[in-house]
Amino acid sequence: MTRLYDSRKRILVTGGAGFLGSHLIDRLLEQGHEVLCADNLFTGTKRNIDHLHNHPRFEFLRHDVTFPLYVEVDEIYNLACPASPIHYQHDPVQTTKTSVHGAINMLGLAKRLRCKVFQASTSEVYGDPHVHPQPETYWGNVNPVGLRSCYDEGKRCAETLFFDYHRQHGLQIKVARIFNTYGPRMHHADGRVVSNFVVQALRGAPITIYGEGRQTRSFCYVDDLVEGFIRLMESDDNVTGPVNLGNPGEFTIRELAEQVIAQTGSRSELVFGELPQDDPKQRRPDIGQAKAKLGWEPQVPLEEGLARTITYFRDLLPELEVA
Ligand code: NAD
Ligand code: UDP
Repeated sequence: MTRLYDSRKRILVTGGAGFLGSHLIDRLLEQGHEVLCADNLFTGTKRNIDHLHNHPRFEFLRHDVTFPLYVEVDEIYNLACPASPIHYQHDPVQTTKTSVHGAINMLGLAKRLRCKVFQASTSEVYGDPHVHPQPETYWGNVNPVGLRSCYDEGKRCAETLFFDYHRQHGLQIKVARIFNTYGPRMHHADGRVVSNFVVQALRGAPITIYGEGRQTRSFCYVDDLVEGFIRLMESDDNVTGPVNLGNPGEFTIRELAEQVIAQTGSRSELVFGELPQDDPKQRRPDIGQAKAKLGWEPQVPLEEGLARTITYFRDLLPELEVA
């Protein structure tokens, strides 16, 4: 899958110490680029980038994207933002600021440098969708004043800013709408469903299903997603997005729980709790555009991706129990 760029670039990745950012950085370094990672370590961790500590083409900058950043780079991937509901709801005002002020700062930087800028948007822009699966043309069903709004509306406003900078200043933008992605380096305690279920199963703790577990999600393995990021960044100038990136395989949350139990061999029981406010009932990407414009579609089936994720958490858990 790895392809080399024509020439080495210096690339800024905001949120690079997080789950997706750290995998993206690995790929960019593998391709021979220099990477500057800017992260305030709110939900990211140095553990995710520890292996790059002495890498000659890697640099880490502790920085909050709500403040301006003056650096010289050739491309920007803007990923900085807490992504799991418990993290983005922890300080909702800061979440909106991160999306909106972070976008303004990164767009301003890209405008000065005349460089391409990528935005990690989200399937949450579709809210609790009335159209299924979700194509990019669907405008969504988002509550503007609920508990998820800081994230959903922040990301929607960031998209608006990206398209206005594109129209008004001719900036080259690449907007990806990311659907639920999982894999090694997810934060073990960020409350997202895959990490929660895997950790609970490995600990023999009850598997916490919210509601009756009939809501659906489509789970994309991280390596597939990163390939999509890079293809989008490298795509023709006229491709701006928004482009859905996700795996169209759709599962109920109960099916996911059963799959995790089967693959871990766990004896955990299923327990059913309350469904969080505005929890989307179904979600599946229409990836027609990604296929047509990027020649991209996911390769890793859920069973295989889960096996790799389980191995990661199996190795990590003893360290966490000691810490
Ligand atoms: P993550 O929480 O692991 O990573 C986010 C990173 O951003 C962390 O390292 C965090 O410390 C950093 N960050 C947060 N606020 C910051 C700020 N103000 N300044 C600088 N750094 C800051 O989450 P992730 O899953 O890696 O998500 C990365 C991006 O992809 C996010 O923008 C998220 O909204 C988007 N996304 C992810 C998914 C998914 O399923 N993983 C789905 C949709 C969208
Ligand atoms: N979920 C669950 N148990 C958990 C964590 C999450 O049933 O321990 C459900 C959650 O209510 C949602 C789905 O799993 O319906 C996906 O949740 P996640 O937080 O991973 O992502 P998002 O809701 O943002 O898609």
